[in-house]
Amino acid sequence: MRGLPLIDRSEVQHSSRIELSQSALQNNVDFVREKVGPDPIISAVVKSNAYGHGTRYFIPMLTKCGVKHFSVASSFEAQEVLKACLPDCEIVIMGILYSKDLEWAIYHNIQYYVFDLERIRQSVEAAKRVGKKAVVHLEVETGGNRTGLPIEQMEEALDLLKANAKYIDFRGLCTHLAGAETLANQFRIRRQIIRYNEFYDLAEQKGYLPSLKHIASSAAALTLPEARMDMVRVGIALYGLWPSPDVYNMHLVEINQMSDNPLHRVISWKTDIMHLKDVKEGEFIGYGTSYQALRDMKVAVIPLGYANGYSRSLSNKGFVLIRGKRANICGLINMNLFMVDVTYIEDAEVGDEVVLIGNQASNSITISSFSDFANQLNNELMSRLPSDIPRCIVE
Ligand SMILES: *Cc1c(COP(=O)(O)O)cnc(C)c1O
Repeated sequence: MRGLPLIDRSEVQHSSRIELSQSALQNNVDFVREKVGPDPIISAVVKSNAYGHGTRYFIPMLTKCGVKHFSVASSFEAQEVLKACLPDCEIVIMGILYSKDLEWAIYHNIQYYVFDLERIRQSVEAAKRVGKKAVVHLEVETGGNRTGLPIEQMEEALDLLKANAKYIDFRGLCTHLAGAETLANQFRIRRQIIRYNEFYDLAEQKGYLPSLKHIASSAAALTLPEARMDMVRVGIALYGLWPSPDVYNMHLVEINQMSDNPLHRVISWKTDIMHLKDVKEGEFIGYGTSYQALRDMKVAVIPLGYANGYSRSLSNKGFVLIRGKRANICGLINMNLFMVDVTYIEDAEVGDEVVLIGNQASNSITISSFSDFANQLNNELMSRLPSDIPRCIVE
């Protein structure tokens, strides 16, 4: 028999921690609201565990900011939101909803995208069985070539919706723009908007219109007034990051300023120095030979790696903050460890706070500071933050 005392598991410390700033989120919601004007609904896109922030924490934070409309990518994510939101909130599944979960969605008033005729027919049947209306958003094909109803099927779709109005609420007509983030893509976006309007014209001719028109994600919501319509689906901007450098520049042109800082990062990610090591000139650091010390140096060992969401693509590239100074990553990111150069941070000690994302003293690390592929890396790194890292909400 083991005589060990029972120790509360919450006393065991995780290898890193995440802080979420309520005031930063409020600031971002206010900024988006100011940009889009008073009328469009702001649907907060909280797919992928709220872009890694943690749905459980982020939904109550959004609720505090007055946001009641949430968009997710799957029925699983919808269920996570459902657990965290107030009864009067609206949840929309933009992506995968398996047929066997249709009745579940309808029963819980969860709205969803439809992009084929079969799903409309299934929805009628499911709604009859549940005894509640299915609330759907018809997603149409405008050139993204992912999901989207082809224009040849639009009349039939409208007939079906109209004939079954008792069972289906035709809530939205929507599409997703394929890259409103970059100026170089604008010709494609223009064409998508023209095609979207052709679908809407068909609905007008049938005399059967949706309640809401919506096509804009963050980039279009911030830069394309004609794309705002009745609702904007905003993800990345709410988390305080620009969708792309182009979108930031368009904002500067609009306000006629050289710089501005209207979006505030909500997330900070921190850990501590685990160990310090003196390394002699000529030695290699970590696995393989990707980093050789060109002089005597001191490195700090950080207790995190790609298994903890710290992207391996930051090997020999990224940096962290220690004692307010920048420390470069040396060598490969391992599964649970990586090393940084602290040769010139002489007072660094084991246990010192290490900032992976966030501020320290007067310095800050934005995820985008790591590379020119900024927005890809932003989204990828955040969305892969493991859900088991402890989160806390700060002022
Ligand atoms: C992810 C997503 C959005 C939000 O995009 P952001 O660029 O993060 O604002 C909006 N609409 C759809 C359909 C999406 O998949």
